[in-house]
Amino acid sequence: MPYSHSVGTALVAALAAWLIIENGFGRAVLGRAVGLGIMSHLILDLVTHGHDIVLWPGLPSPKLGLGLYEAAPFAAFIIEFAYGIFCWRVYRGGRGLLALIVIGNLANLSFLSPAIPGPEYYFAGLPLVVVTVVFVQIVVTLVLIGVLARRV
Ligand SMILES: [Zn+2]
Repeated sequence: MPYSHSVGTALVAALAAWLIIENGFGRAVLGRAVGLGIMSHLILDLVTHGHDIVLWPGLPSPKLGLGLYEAAPFAAFIIEFAYGIFCWRVYRGGRGLLALIVIGNLANLSFLSPAIPGPEYYFAGLPLVVVTVVFVQIVVTLVLIGVLARRV
C-alpha cells in the first residue's frame, strides 16, 4: 500500500482535510476531528501493520509497522476495539453508535486471523473483490456513523 498508507500521505491528508473543512466550510471543530481521525488511523496502522508503511510514497525504506496483525491478531483486535470505545466515550456517543462500534469490530475479527472463519474464505484469489468489499464496508460504516453520531 505505497500510496494510501505512507506516513507522508497521512500527514498531508490530515492537514488538507483539516484546513479545507475549517477554512473552506467554516467547520473548525469538524475539521480538527477529521484531521485527528486520519492521524489516529496512521498510528493504529503503525501498531498493527507488518512492515509495509513507508515514510513517503516511492521511498523503498524504511518500512514501518509493528506487525500485530500477523504476530498477535487478537491483541490488534483489542487495541482497535479499545480505541473505538475510547473515541465513543470522548465523543459521548449514544447506544446506537456504541452498538455499531461493537458490531463493526466483531465483524472484522475473521479478517484478522485465518483461525477465525469468515466471508473472506470466498474471496481467496480475488484481490479486486476483497478491495471492493473493504471499500463498501468503509462507505457503509461511515454513513452509519454519520447517522448514529447525530445529536438529536
Ligand atoms: Zn489503514
